[in-house]
Amino acid sequence: MSERGAVSQARRVVIKIGSSALRADVALPGRLAEVISEHSSHRFVIVSSGAIAIGAERLGYDQRPKEMSRLQAAAAAGQSVLMRRYDEAFQNHGCVCGQVLLTHADLADRSRLNNARGALASLMEAGAVPIANENDTVATEEIAFGDNDQLAAMVAPLVSAELLVLLTDVDGVMNEGGQRMSELGASDAVPVLSGGSAHGSGGIRSKVDAARKAARAGASVVIASAARAPLSEVLSGNDVGTYVPAATDAMRARQHWIAYTLRPRGALLLDDGAATAVRAGRSSLLPIGIAGVRGDFVVGDSVVLLAPDGQEVARGLTRMGASEVARVAKNDSDNLQLRYGERDWVVVHRDDLVFA
Ligand code: GLU
Repeated sequence: MSERGAVSQARRVVIKIGSSALRADVALPGRLAEVISEHSSHRFVIVSSGAIAIGAERLGYDQRPKEMSRLQAAAAAGQSVLMRRYDEAFQNHGCVCGQVLLTHADLADRSRLNNARGALASLMEAGAVPIANENDTVATEEIAFGDNDQLAAMVAPLVSAELLVLLTDVDGVMNEGGQRMSELGASDAVPVLSGGSAHGSGGIRSKVDAARKAARAGASVVIASAARAPLSEVLSGNDVGTYVPAATDAMRARQHWIAYTLRPRGALLLDDGAATAVRAGRSSLLPIGIAGVRGDFVVGDSVVLLAPDGQEVARGLTRMGASEVARVAKNDSDNLQLRYGERDWVVVHRDDLVFA
């Protein structure tokens, strides 16, 4: 397979568009719709920012607001205009698109996640293009994705995407000499990078982070300039932007969800023996290996497992709440059996453990 063979062979594609790229170029939705309409054997999902930037202008704010309520107001005023632009662009090319607004809570809950997956799949099956954005008007800091690069990295495994294209206003990831890096491997060091732009909230650092997360889910990623790297060239696998190859040992969707979508609610402090056993044998975590607990979590929450030196060993779903873990920690299963009766004394089962 040629260098970017996986890119040209991909048929399920997520395209993320940043606020700055959209703001700089009103014709961008039209060009995207044109290329998408020409690739009828592909299925596309767009994750588009831009609501806050458009809305801020409409509401007369002179820059991207900082207060939550004004961000939410801007998103409300901008999202409808954003969608109208896509709607018109797609209609002009005989395509249908549909708005999908998501909050982090929608993806952190298994049944809501399945609902979102079903809706996206049905839209794609019908040949329509879902246009996703964060539901900023109801999202608060605590539940927000962070930025749409992260949202795109979570949507990619949700629709089993083989390719994620992050379109931005720079040519890709630049090396120390300011040259575009054609490829960025999983273990390549990331050069010192620029921060976020004035209109979006991501920046290259967030794109590389999102690209690596999507790559762990088995998607190839291209980070490229919306203005200078035509989407058709990206899809053909041409040498534009920065290519982040899919991981060869991709995680299953559920493992990926535990590793990158769920937010840990606490930590389990492991003793040396447990840290070594979990690392090496990928065995379940039992109460005997737990030296302490942090945070206030309940059954089913995500927790990080920390070695005595504070390093993260793994993360996983806990089968006990924080107070119960505190009560049973350091006890062996026979002891617990005697005191509390017959039961499977596992805190984090190996099937629910991930090594991110
Ligand atoms: N959801 C935000 C918007 O539509 C953008 C978030 C981001 O900048 O990534 O304006």
